[in-house]
Amino acid sequence: MTRIAIIGAGITGLACAKTLKEAGFQPVLFDKGRGIGGRVATRRADNLHFDHGAPYIHTNDDNFSYVLRGLIDTGNADIWDDGTGRELIVGTPGMSSIPKGLAAGLDVRLGTQIIALRPNGSGWRLFYDDVHYDATHVVLTIPAPQIKGFLGENHSLVKLVSDVQMSPDLTLMVAISGNPLNTRPMPEGYSLVSILQECQKPFRPQSNTTAWVAHANKSFTQAHLEGDLPSIASKMLPFLCDHLNISNDCVTHSVAHRWLYSRVVKPLGEPFVRTPNAKLYLGGDWCIGSQVEDAWNSGAAIATDLIEQGL
Ligand SMILES: Cc1cc2nc3c(=O)[nH]c(=O)nc-3n(C[C@H](O)[C@H](O)[C@H](O)COP(=O)(O)OP(=O)(O)OC[C@H]3O[C@@H](n4cnc5c(N)ncnc54)[C@H](O)[C@@H]3O)c2cc1C
Repeated sequence: MTRIAIIGAGITGLACAKTLKEAGFQPVLFDKGRGIGGRVATRRADNLHFDHGAPYIHTNDDNFSYVLRGLIDTGNADIWDDGTGRELIVGTPGMSSIPKGLAAGLDVRLGTQIIALRPNGSGWRLFYDDVHYDATHVVLTIPAPQIKGFLGENHSLVKLVSDVQMSPDLTLMVAISGNPLNTRPMPEGYSLVSILQECQKPFRPQSNTTAWVAHANKSFTQAHLEGDLPSIASKMLPFLCDHLNISNDCVTHSVAHRWLYSRVVKPLGEPFVRTPNAKLYLGGDWCIGSQVEDAWNSGAAIATDLIEQGL
């Protein structure tokens, strides 16, 4: 009997699982996180939503556009006009509603960190906590730089993905009493590269307190990556306050998040890699690019290949 295990319930894993499910398979997704979606994520605090991973999705891909339109129909997403003329899609009431919508009807086991993967007869044994799960096929969708630790540096697939590069990101989530204007362009070399007012997106709670998400620039990120999160927040906050021209007293909440693997700098250049016997697949945004649509296309391509194997 075919048992397909997918490690990672980000967009790649969800695309793979959804495509397989539509073809009649019953894949099982495992994710170490508390929520579905990986880097498409939302934090909540004080009734505010902070999209601290991908802030929105923009795609020109027909297949992925069709999927996103389905999520708009189910109320999981909406179109956001940010004033730039691009058609942006956001989750409602937060970005995490997009992966939640994609996961409908799928078997997702959250809070399950797979710590080892061992060959087991004609398939694989996945280990987590004190238990294991036997699968005939495994799809690994974790960030490429983490795969070596999983499969060992001598594994043939590890060598194939060893050139992929991903960059880290430091993110600051801030609640501000009031709604300061954010119209000034960010000066060249500023320690923050973006500051977004979250409540501008559709279906966000509106109140006198507004939610903001800021991202640090490359040199700030490199200098402070190893710091503890409260000290990262306290170092990023003055730049946000300065740019918005507000005093620290207006800040009611300030929390930092560290993405060790945030954006793809150098992708693989093909939608996935697999072992010759098609029992183990590696996929992710990092295969093709750095966008959510790349993650979707990687996951869907893996599922199509699995189905073509005539399982
Ligand atoms: C700050 C930031 C800004 C971004 N901005 C944009 C943007 O504007 N537009 C855009 O299109 N994209 C953007 N992206 C990129 C986008 O989020 C990613 O391309 C996409 O979400 C990647 O999906 P994925 O499934 O390949 O990987 P991930 O989302 O990283 O999913 C991998 C999953 O694997 C799980 N996992 C890892 N190890 C294990 C383990 N051992 N056991 C079980 N589970 C495990 C993780 O918990 C995670 O859920 C941004 C990302 C970040 C972080």
